[in-house]
Amino acid sequence: MTTTITLNNGVTMPALGLGVFQTPPEQTVAAVQTALEVGYRHIDTAAAYGNEREVGEAIRRSGIDRDDIFIETKVWVTDYGYDQTLHAFDKSARKLGVDRIDLLILHQALPAHFDRTVAAYQALEKLLADGKVRAIGVSNFLPIRLDELTARTDIVPAVNQIELHPYNIRPQSQAANAKHGILTQAWAPIGGIRHYSGSPQTPLTDPVITAIGDQYGKTTAQVMLRWHLQQSRSAIPKSVRAERITENFDVFDFHLTDDELARIDALHIGDTMNPDEMDFLSFDITVPEA
Ligand code: NDP
Repeated sequence: MTTTITLNNGVTMPALGLGVFQTPPEQTVAAVQTALEVGYRHIDTAAAYGNEREVGEAIRRSGIDRDDIFIETKVWVTDYGYDQTLHAFDKSARKLGVDRIDLLILHQALPAHFDRTVAAYQALEKLLADGKVRAIGVSNFLPIRLDELTARTDIVPAVNQIELHPYNIRPQSQAANAKHGILTQAWAPIGGIRHYSGSPQTPLTDPVITAIGDQYGKTTAQVMLRWHLQQSRSAIPKSVRAERITENFDVFDFHLTDDELARIDALHIGDTMNPDEMDFLSFDITVPEA
């Protein structure tokens, strides 16, 4: 297990990053600054999160060399289409205050507007060729969408960011990503957003994960993050609390056995908010210019 992962185009990425979905702009600078102080060097944001500006502000304030921090962001669906997605890069780069984005991904496929989805991805290919992004990828793409996309485009996505936690290990998606040579990156990596599914259960209080953690003096969140890393996935846990941001990065001093990894895999019940095939174009979010 290493702390960095080499993507399919040779670019290296810190495996563990801080996610900032639902981190309010007014809390984002502090959360990202804390993460950078603790040792995180990878931040996952999105145009649709409305906090790219604050992510950039925290990076500048940190005093850490920009090139030592891996910035990942996402193009929102209302900006799909070739020219629109080229412009979406300009918007995100301007808000982040950077010339180049390390990893730019499509937030999801639009099955009912797949030509626009492909055109958006072709814009990512252009941005990659022009050196404006270091790697490109997708999010929430089901196996069938990966097949459709790769049949119509030239560059295999470096990453597919999907919901993945012990209660849904996404076997088909993990296999499809692997088949294409695409890194699986886990969102909701500690299953922390149960309100989507309405399910009362959360892996954060799961007795199996708790018992494993007790053996190492580790929390359930730490065990789950270790489980991702040992299975060669990237994970991007979110927190706005300094103590949890710190806790979630303190996962490099213990090692789960193969049996423990398998026991966590066996918790899979397919619990999900399953956004993969939602057509978000009907959602009322547009990404402002500034
Ligand atoms: P997570 O699994 O990261 O869970 C986050 C929740 O768990 C928050 O409520 C947080 O609360 C809480 N939490 C964090 N650390 C701990 C801890 N150590 N112990 C107990 N509770 C904890 O889910 P997310 O949905 O936030 O996913 C992570 C990231 O993935 C997002 O921030 C975003 O970057 C990305 N994402 C991408 C999506 C996509 O469509 N591509 C969709 C959803 C997320 P608190 O902040 O109060 O600590």
